[in-house]
Amino acid sequence: MIRTVSAVFVLLTTSAVMAEEARQLDAHEHGVGQLDIAFEQGKIAMVLHAPGADIVGFEYAAQSSEDRAKVDAAVATLARPLDLFSLPASAGCSVVEASASLESEAAQDDHDQAAHKDEGHAHDHAEADHKEEDQSHAKEHGHEDHAEQAGHTEFHAEYLLECADPTQATLIAFGYFEAFANARELEVQVISERGASAFEVERDAPTLDLRSLF
Ligand SMILES: [Zn+2]
Repeated sequence: MIRTVSAVFVLLTTSAVMAEEARQLDAHEHGVGQLDIAFEQGKIAMVLHAPGADIVGFEYAAQSSEDRAKVDAAVATLARPLDLFSLPASAGCSVVEASASLESEAAQDDHDQAAHKDEGHAHDHAEADHKEEDQSHAKEHGHEDHAEQAGHTEFHAEYLLECADPTQATLIAFGYFEAFANARELEVQVISERGASAFEVERDAPTLDLRSLF
């Protein structure tokens, strides 16, 4: 049983990594995060990706002690999944594993540049974001500037919950939106024994009813 759950968890993590690659650079939309949930055999695995803008309100590298403190506080908050995605008490869920971290784009920059080299992306990008800069700026230089000054960041969290009665885990209340004032929406994918289902949970209706999946 544990091995199966781990497989799902690995699968989720892998798909999240792939999704993250797809979201690289300007791909993510500020205000919109992604939550993948897998139900299996009494366990629930979750993977969250959310723009830095949603979680701390900025995506530059935190330099000041104030900004660093915001990042630390956000990571601590993200490591308490049952406060962010609360389940009915009757489900009897507890946290087995929880981890959260901030991912910056810097390490992905080369990949993006390679991927878009032949599409004139770097050039368009430089023009769009550096209109006021000297035209003599080389394409590559413009791109590097962007990565340094305006690179996107995402928070990433992974959770594993264990529930005494997972059939009761049918309603998720998203305290997430109270914790993070800039978050507007989560795109939620749920994998259960019935297959995969996609939902959008928004700030003004922060609950997800999963009864149809049980
Ligand atoms: Zn961003």
